[in-house]
Amino acid sequence: MDTESSWFEARLRMVKEQIEQRGIRDPRVLQAMREVPRHLFVPEEEQPYAYEDCPLPIGFGQTISQPYMVAIMTALLELRGDEKVLEVGTGSGYQAAILSRIAREVHTIERHQALAQKAGERLQALGYTNVKVHVGDGSLGIPEEAPFQGIIVTAAAPKVPTPLLEQLSMNAYLVIPVGGPGGQELMRWQKTPAGFEPKELFPVAFVPLRGKEGWKEDQWYSR
Ligand code: SAM
Repeated sequence: MDTESSWFEARLRMVKEQIEQRGIRDPRVLQAMREVPRHLFVPEEEQPYAYEDCPLPIGFGQTISQPYMVAIMTALLELRGDEKVLEVGTGSGYQAAILSRIAREVHTIERHQALAQKAGERLQALGYTNVKVHVGDGSLGIPEEAPFQGIIVTAAAPKVPTPLLEQLSMNAYLVIPVGGPGGQELMRWQKTPAGFEPKELFPVAFVPLRGKEGWKEDQWYSR
C-alpha cells in the first residue's frame, strides 16, 4: 500500500470511528472530512498523529482542533452549499478547508501573521481557491465582507462578541466557545426575526480568543 492510500485509509477510519459513531450524519460534512488531507495541515513531526482523536500543536502555542470538534461545529452551521461564511481563528487552515468543501465562499481571519501566511500558502497549494485568509483581530469580524450566512469561532471568548452577531444574516448561526480557563460551553446563536436566540450545547476546551472582544493577556495567561 502506498503512503497516499494509507493516509486515505486512516482518514476513512477517523470519519467512521470518531465522527459517524458519535452521531454526525450530515453527508456533506462526512464527505469533506473524508477528502481533506489533515496530515498536510500539521507540522511534520505531528503527522503520524494527524488522524488521532485529539487536537495537535501547530506552533505559537496554538492547536489544530480535534477532528470531531471540527465536524460538529461545521454541522451546527447547517450549511446548504451557497453560503458565504466566516471563520475566526485560521490556525492551520484545516477548518477553513473543510468549510470550503461545503460553503460557496470562506473568509478566515487569524491574528498571528506567520500562521495566516502559512495557512494561506497551504490552502492555495492544495487548491482550496474559495478561501480568503485575512490577518487581524477576528473578534471584530470582517465588517467589509459581512453579512455571513454562518460564523465559526475556534477560540474561546469571554462573552459573545456583539460585532459577530451584527455580521450574521437573518436565520444564520454563530457557533462559538464561550468561557475561560476554568470552563467553557460551546454555544450556538441564531439571528431570527424576533432577535438572537442563544443555545448552550456542551462543555469544550479551546485556546483563548484575544483582541478587542476577547481575553486580555492578564486575564488568561497564554500566547
Ligand atoms: N481553526 C484552526 C485550525 O483548523 O487549525 C484552529 C484554531 S486554534 C484552536 C485558535 C486560533 O485562533 C489560533 O490560531 C489563534 O491565534 C487564533 N486567534 C485567537 N484570537 C484571535 C483573534 N482575535 N483574531 C483572530 N485569530 C485569533
